[in-house]
Amino acid sequence: MTARVLVVDDVLPNVKLLEAKLSSEYFDVLCATSGPDALEIVQRERPDVVLLDVMMPGMNGFEVCRRIKEDESTTHIPVIMVTALDQISDKVAGLEAGAEDFLTKPVDDVALFARVRSLVRLKMMVDELRNRECTGAALGWNKETKESIENIDPATTSVLIVEDNEKAAARMAHALESIATVSHIPGGENVADRVREKDYDLVIVSLTMKEADGLRICSKLRNFEETRQVPILVIVDHGEHGSKQLLRALEMGVNDYLIRPVERLELVARARTQIRRKRYADRLWENFHVSMQLAMTDAVTGLYNRHYLTSHLETLIRTARHNHKPLSLAMIDIDHFKAINDEHGHAVGDEVLQEFGRRLARNVRGVDLAARYGGEEFVVAMPDTSLRDAHRIAERLRQTIEAPPFSVSEGRVIPVTVSIGLAALDDAIASGGQLVEKADMALYDAKNAGRNRVALAADPDIETQADAAQTG
Ligand code: GH3
Ligand code: MG
Ligand code: MG
Repeated sequence: MTARVLVVDDVLPNVKLLEAKLSSEYFDVLCATSGPDALEIVQRERPDVVLLDVMMPGMNGFEVCRRIKEDESTTHIPVIMVTALDQISDKVAGLEAGAEDFLTKPVDDVALFARVRSLVRLKMMVDELRNRECTGAALGWNKETKESIENIDPATTSVLIVEDNEKAAARMAHALESIATVSHIPGGENVADRVREKDYDLVIVSLTMKEADGLRICSKLRNFEETRQVPILVIVDHGEHGSKQLLRALEMGVNDYLIRPVERLELVARARTQIRRKRYADRLWENFHVSMQLAMTDAVTGLYNRHYLTSHLETLIRTARHNHKPLSLAMIDIDHFKAINDEHGHAVGDEVLQEFGRRLARNVRGVDLAARYGGEEFVVAMPDTSLRDAHRIAERLRQTIEAPPFSVSEGRVIPVTVSIGLAALDDAIASGGQLVEKADMALYDAKNAGRNRVALAADPDIETQADAAQTG
C-alpha cells in the first residue's frame, strides 16, 4: 500500500526523521514546518494522511486540524496528532478538533506504520465512494447515506470483546457504550463461530489471555471467508513479549492495536476508525452488487437483459453437454403488440410488458433463465428440460398470458396473447446464437399458423432424413 503522507512539525529534524521512516516503507512524504504551510499543502496536494505536531508556534496543531476538518473539500483527509507528552488533555483537544488518531513522541515505528496504514485504508474506502457519488446518484448514494454511515451509535453498531480478564473487559465495554452495543466472551473455541453468526462491526481481541490464544483466534477470523473482513483490534502488553505478539498480529492482517493500560479515548477513537472503514467497505460492496444487478437486468420488466442471456446461455450449453442433459429454449413474442401501443399509448404498452414480465417470472422455475430479448420478445432457457417437457411448460405459459386479460391503469382491460417457438439443444447446434435462431424459426411458424400458439422446431433427425432423401 502506498500513500501520500504530509508531515507537519516546526522542528526540522523531527520532520526529517519521520520522512526517512515513512520513505523507507515506500510512502510518498510531503513536509511542512508551520500551520499555514500545512494548510496550503493540504489544499494543493490533497495528501492521504496528515501527521500533525501539536506544539507549534503561531498556529498550533489543533487549530490546523480544525481548519482541515471544517473545509468540505478536505474534511475526509485523516489527521493523526503527534503529541510530545502522553497527555490526556491533548488527546481530548485533538479529538474535539476532529483528529482521527494520536501518536506520542518519540514516535515508535510499529505504531507509526500501523496508524498510517489503518487510516489510509479508511481513506481509500471513502475516496472510492466519493468517486462513485458522481456516477452513483442512480444507486442511491447521497449525503444522507454518508451521514448514516458516519452515525455510529449503539443502535446500529455491535462490538465483540474477547478477553478473560473480567475487569478489563468491563472497562472497555464501558468506554465503548456510547458508540456500540458491546458483547463479551472470555475466549474459547467458539469465537470464530460467534463472529460468523453475527455481523459484528468490530472484534477486540486480548492477546494476554491466560487460557485462550488470542493470536490463534485472530488467525481463525482472518481465515474464514465470512469473517475475513471484520475489523480486528488487538490489546497487547507493554514490553518485549507484547511487541513480538503485536508484529505477528499485524502480519496476520489485524487492523490496529492498543497497549495496556488501555486508554479510554484511544480505544474509542480507534474503534470508531475501524467501524467507519468497515461500513464504507460494506457500502462499496452493496454498490457493486446493485450496479451488477443493473448491468444484468432490464429496467422495465426486471428480467435478465439480452446481454446477460447471451453470455450465460453459453455456460448453460456447456453444462448441458458436459452432464449429458437436455436444454430447451423458448422464444416468446407478444402478438400484435404494435396495435396495443397504437390503441392505448406507449405508457400502457410498458405496463403490459411489466405485467407480462411478472406472469413470466411466476411461471418459470428458479433454474430457468428468463430474459427480455428485445422490445416485446422474451427468451426462457430451461436447463435439464426435454423438448416435450418444454412444450408442456410453454403451453401453460401461453394460457397464463391469455387469461385473465391484463388489467392496466385507468381500469383498462387488455387481452394479450403470445406466440412461442421452441427448440432443444442437439449436436448440430454449435452456439447459443444458433439455439436462439432455431427457436426464432419455430416462432415464425407459430405466427404464420395464426398466433397465440406454441410451435416446435423441426426434429434434427427428421431433417437429416429429409436432407438425406434430397441428396440421395
Ligand atoms: P406480431 O404479432 O407479428 O409480433 O406483431 P407485433 O405488433 O407484436 O410486432 P412488431 O414487431 O410489428 O411490433 C412490435 C412493437 O413493439 C413495435 C414497438 O414500437 C413496440 N415496442 C418495442 N419495445 C417497446 C417498449 O419498450 N415499450 C413499448 N410500449 N413498446 C415497445
Ligand atoms: Mg410481437
Ligand atoms: Mg416482435
